[in-house]
Amino acid sequence: MSLLLDTTVLPAADLTGRTVVVVHAHPDDEAVFTGATIRRLADAGARVVLVTATGGESGKPRLPLGGRTLGEVRTAELEHAAELLGVQRLVLLGKRDSGIPVGTDPRAFARADLPAVAETIARLVEAEHAEAVVGYDADGVYGHPDHIAVHLVARHAAGLAGVTSYDATVDREHLHFAGEHVVGSAGGTRRYGRVTAEISVALAASPYELEVKRQALLAHASQISPEMLADRFQETYELEWYLRRGPRAVLEDLGNAHALAPV
Ligand SMILES: [Zn+2]
Repeated sequence: MSLLLDTTVLPAADLTGRTVVVVHAHPDDEAVFTGATIRRLADAGARVVLVTATGGESGKPRLPLGGRTLGEVRTAELEHAAELLGVQRLVLLGKRDSGIPVGTDPRAFARADLPAVAETIARLVEAEHAEAVVGYDADGVYGHPDHIAVHLVARHAAGLAGVTSYDATVDREHLHFAGEHVVGSAGGTRRYGRVTAEISVALAASPYELEVKRQALLAHASQISPEMLADRFQETYELEWYLRRGPRAVLEDLGNAHALAPV
């Protein structure tokens, strides 16, 4: 447990009528990095719009695909996870998983016209009257090219729409003392996450939210097995971390989200 974080669970504000757009690269990222946050937003009455850029086609399937493509399987898993988390609208951008390193497929998300994608997301933010966009930190948490692309499009979309942006990240100092987090074995080439002092907002899941997050992770059965979550699950997954750019917004109203750094 990070010493700097107050993880006392307080009741969230009533967020009825408020909306946040959460952008992710692949099916499973929404559960890994933001699962408890999305569940709490939904339970507090907020509308969560989940945008997933790719079908995760470059992942390695852990199970037989039963004649379906990996993208089809992962999209179905995503729909199930989104339902568990209380997502109200799921938007699929239909790009291809770029892989590491980026392959030659012209449909790869990392090769997409990112300003155009940002424009699409900005229009979505405006149509939904969303007050914030969630993406990833500038290194895409762990260096995956699709995650870096999410950072770029989410930040740019928030700027175009004139709303706060939050970058989901992980606290590498915390995880150093926790169990084996999937980000540590995800195949990125860079050091992952941020240090505690850089983080603006940390949210600690309640036992209920943590269990929903576990179920949402396991909904991605083609990628995540129970054994992968067996190492000190609570310590490893109960916290979710964000950097903020712009005024305080919806994530600061989640109850125990604890602001650690000035704007
Ligand atoms: Zn990913």
